Amino acid sequence: MALLVQKYGGTSVANAECMRNVAQRIARTRSEGHQVVVVVSAMGDTTDDLIALAKQVNPDPDPREMDMLLATGEQVSIAILTMALHHIGVPAISFTGPQAGIFAESVHLKGRIIDVRPKRIVEALRHGKVVIVAGFQGLDEQEDIVTLGRGGSDMTAVALAWALKADRCQFFKDVRGVFTADPRIVPEARKLDEISYDEMLELASMGAAVLQSRAVEFAKQYGVPLEVLSSFEDEPGTIVREEVKAMEHVVVRGVAADRNQAKITILKVPDRPGIAATIFDAIARANVNVDMIVLNVRSQGQLADLSFTVPEGDLKVALKAVQSVVPEVSSEGVIYDTNIAKVSIVGVGMRSHSGIAARMFSALAKAGIDIHMISTSEIKISVVIPKEKADEAVRVLHREFRLDRPVTTVRTRVVRRRSRS
Ligand code: ASP
Ligand code: MG
Repeated sequence: MALLVQKYGGTSVANAECMRNVAQRIARTRSEGHQVVVVVSAMGDTTDDLIALAKQVNPDPDPREMDMLLATGEQVSIAILTMALHHIGVPAISFTGPQAGIFAESVHLKGRIIDVRPKRIVEALRHGKVVIVAGFQGLDEQEDIVTLGRGGSDMTAVALAWALKADRCQFFKDVRGVFTADPRIVPEARKLDEISYDEMLELASMGAAVLQSRAVEFAKQYGVPLEVLSSFEDEPGTIVREEVKAMEHVVVRGVAADRNQAKITILKVPDRPGIAATIFDAIARANVNVDMIVLNVRSQGQLADLSFTVPEGDLKVALKAVQSVVPEVSSEGVIYDTNIAKVSIVGVGMRSHSGIAARMFSALAKAGIDIHMISTSEIKISVVIPKEKADEAVRVLHREFRLDRPVTTVRTRVVRRRSRS
């Protein structure tokens, strides 16, 4: 008997029929003898609809009230799913985030889980019940509801899996697993059987939008085994786990594009120590994550242009933060560009292979795709390009690194050659 945490996203619980299907799947898992804790998102586009509704009455709603509103989406889901389970004879009980013992830091719309005390879950499991928990929400120290950032139900699931010492945390999605690229853009993209936490992290933060990156970070830190699989078919998905040596055989594991980025440029910043610190300190205080940074010292010296990227949704806040310190850094102006995309190739094998960046840049150059910014890490190379070129860039790179070819054929060939000798 295993203890499984299963997470179903908005698409998997979009309507009554989906809810009944999910209930059937949970019932099957339970009849195989497993204990099941389920985390659900709001039904379909509920969260987006609620945001739109709020904006109709107030273009700049108070974050605390926004959290009160958004948390209702998941609360509908848990009650409906639990009712569907009861109807097919499965004992089940629903809990909101606070009832499930999820405690979050008091940052509205972006809370971080700081503690999980799943007393009521443990008790309900002991009574043989399936437990259905509302994702995306927790309680802060004022006893206010705080949501955990878009896609935050993933975080709820991983945190619960950790707190309950679950055997696996399964994410049921409208995709069959993690792919070498978005199959809607690259038809020959392949499903990966396994991937390391680090690769998953890079792909998730690069807009592959499979799992919330904070959730993967947490899983990596605490070694929570994850699986991404389809809620519509019965097939193994992609396992996300600790890196093993064999994973290095693949140099590039996947290509992803993030179209929700904005580039901010501060012109003519005085080139002296402390300037960058002042600017990025202001942005950090506004809770905005900066990604790529380029500092261009002008040839005359003394002045520099500073460019960096932020999530598009944080643009307004970031601009405000920059403007608050711009007089201080006496720069001449701030400009921004939302017409960009960040395209990345990811793979732990890059650690032990060279020349990958050159190959990436020349493939893009051959396709006439202009590169505005570049950043690299041990296992990732990202470029900022014009947004309208994003799909083409993904296809070009998928082809360049032969990601359509299954890796196993290479391995089989090696094995055969050995057995002959
Ligand atoms: N319903 C929330 C959202 O759409 C949380 C989630 O789905 O994970 O972002
Ligand atoms: Mg959702």
